[in-house]
Amino acid sequence: MDVWRAGRSGPAGLARRQRERLDALVDHARRRSRLYGELYAPLGAGSPPLDELPVVTKAQLMARFDDWVTDPRVTRRGAEEFAADPAHVGREYLGRYLVLTTSGTTGTPALLLQDRPALDVLEALTVVRVAPRMMDPRTLAAVVRGGGRAAAVWATGRPYGGVSLLQRQIHRRPSRARRLRVFSALAPVDELVAELNAFRPAMLSGYATVLAILAREQHEGRLAIRPALINNGGEALTPEARQLVESAFGARVSNGYGASEMIMIAYDCGHGSMHLHADWAVLEPVDADRRPVAPGEPSATVLLTVLANRVQPVIRYDLGDSVVLRPDPCPCGSGLPAIDVVGRTNDVLHLAAVGGRDVALAPLPLVTLVEAVPGVRSVQLVQTSPESIEVRLDVLPGADRARVEHRVHQRLHEHLVRHGLAGVRTTDGATGPERDPRSAKLRQVLVAPG
Ligand SMILES: [Zn+2]
Repeated sequence: MDVWRAGRSGPAGLARRQRERLDALVDHARRRSRLYGELYAPLGAGSPPLDELPVVTKAQLMARFDDWVTDPRVTRRGAEEFAADPAHVGREYLGRYLVLTTSGTTGTPALLLQDRPALDVLEALTVVRVAPRMMDPRTLAAVVRGGGRAAAVWATGRPYGGVSLLQRQIHRRPSRARRLRVFSALAPVDELVAELNAFRPAMLSGYATVLAILAREQHEGRLAIRPALINNGGEALTPEARQLVESAFGARVSNGYGASEMIMIAYDCGHGSMHLHADWAVLEPVDADRRPVAPGEPSATVLLTVLANRVQPVIRYDLGDSVVLRPDPCPCGSGLPAIDVVGRTNDVLHLAAVGGRDVALAPLPLVTLVEAVPGVRSVQLVQTSPESIEVRLDVLPGADRARVEHRVHQRLHEHLVRHGLAGVRTTDGATGPERDPRSAKLRQVLVAPG
């Protein structure tokens, strides 16, 4: 009921909920978490305003895991041992905490515990706010006609967010196993296509880059499924990828924004925006010096505060994503703040122009122009030096590889010349695009480490 009311309560009602829940969380954290107790000791008694609380990072919290958690039975060692057993995916540690892990693509792998209140809030947000948007009556009817089977293409084997939630649903009602199936995002594309063709899902979920690859397979006729609803999660969905997926499947595409720290941070209203669940989360877009960023401007990172989870308080946590707060009201009429999520998958490249000047190149236009070349299945661009980019290409079966490569280099060269980067070379990679071996996510544009 409260989720329903909060959605209609306007800015004052949301601000009141945030304030009350934040005060209770801060009070709990300083009393029950040794780490937050130390961090907040200099603030004095009472309820400090949010922007006076120190920012925390994943590395900092993980380094003192046992001092971070508020339940003394929870230990890093215990949680790690629990999470290491694949049979525990979707099960609850100590009979009460769902343990999620991150891949560590951006540094330290984290262990995130979701307590019962956090899982209850997730369920309420799903049922009351998100599902009705995703499942309009027409989509629902098409899903039912299609047999109601749901395929999810996620990283598997460890308790990552996507697979854990799905397994949890199956554990809670084993008869669901017939209709819910997880496919590995690391499987070869041809294998994945064959398995999906056999399963015939009415709903499909996966990372944006996987959905884009499957869309090309569908366009080319090797994949022939008819999902009525497609959900993106775990990677930012670009407008280009969304259009590709929509046109390939003729399905409703729904975008999601979440993290292991908070499974659903924002949802897709169907009018081009993501809305923050502002009754249960605070999201502060900030610049590299962690100062607030104005609406309409992309942030360098965001500070996340999760208002539902007590066992592992997440308060002003540097999440690393870039988001843009929408300056104008969303046409859907929702009172929840609207954001665009740029994500964190791709690096901005810094290349050397003629004369040695540093030129920053945005990652998405590069991907878009390569993907527009006929025959390209997927691409990864790796900056190996200020003067060179390695091009890792996967081409569609039947395509003339040499010809596709030639066109890709030509396109990239034109783009580089336009940016004063005529001296930057593009080389062919020895391999195709490489997904992170753990998370199965694909960083399409990156700067080679070291
Ligand atoms: Zn909206």
